Amino acid sequence: MKIKPVQIAVDGFSSCGKSTLARELAKELGYIYIDSGAMYRAVTLYALKNRVFDNDKLDKPLFLTILKEIKIHFELDKNNNPITFLNNQNVENEIRQIEVSSKVSIISAIPEVRERMVKLQREMSKDKSVVMDGRDIGTIVFPDAMIKFFITADLDVRAKRRFDELAEKTSKANFDEVKSNLAERDLLDQTRLISPLKRAENAILIDNSNLDRKEQLDIAMKHVKNILNEG
Ligand code: C5P
Repeated sequence: MKIKPVQIAVDGFSSCGKSTLARELAKELGYIYIDSGAMYRAVTLYALKNRVFDNDKLDKPLFLTILKEIKIHFELDKNNNPITFLNNQNVENEIRQIEVSSKVSIISAIPEVRERMVKLQREMSKDKSVVMDGRDIGTIVFPDAMIKFFITADLDVRAKRRFDELAEKTSKANFDEVKSNLAERDLLDQTRLISPLKRAENAILIDNSNLDRKEQLDIAMKHVKNILNEG
């Protein structure tokens, strides 16, 4: 008998620990982890490299032409964490930089981008049990996902975590810049016309402002076990 694959959607605001939770859930359960934000970031990196922005204005015809050239895939590192590849080049570090963060919500609001990414996300998950994190996973990518989480945390807490993470990698990190980027992305992601960030009706809400990683994982795993046992 074929066992039906399980999809777990983890959506929420920027830098609220979604990917940490999604990755840890996938490890606990032996599922595949897919970071959908990395895909939008890779598209944005390619757009920046091809100079599709004139100051803040996007050259849409040029962008749509180069969109066709983009190929994204993931490979696993020795710790089984996914590494993002753009046209066969490892871009895992580059896509996390602030230049990409500051433009990604503009690029991810473009219908043609979403159409391609959603298709790719579904293809990558075909016949597999997956945990995918993003903004529209429980609403658009997998509306029938068996388990859905919606993660949130105070903006200041999120900015502090993100700043600490960046400060470890670069001396350029600036707290106010990080915080305003998060607030701006949240607003753009929530108000865009296509697939806006919102909590799916049946998503379990977790506010992790006062939780550490382990506490968050324990809460989520409890829900997962309950739902899997019911189903
Ligand atoms: O998850 P992460 O912060 O890396 O995502 C970067 C950006 O990609 C988000 O701010 C959002 O604009 C976009 N995104 C999206 N839909 C997803 C995942 C990410 O629009 N499923």
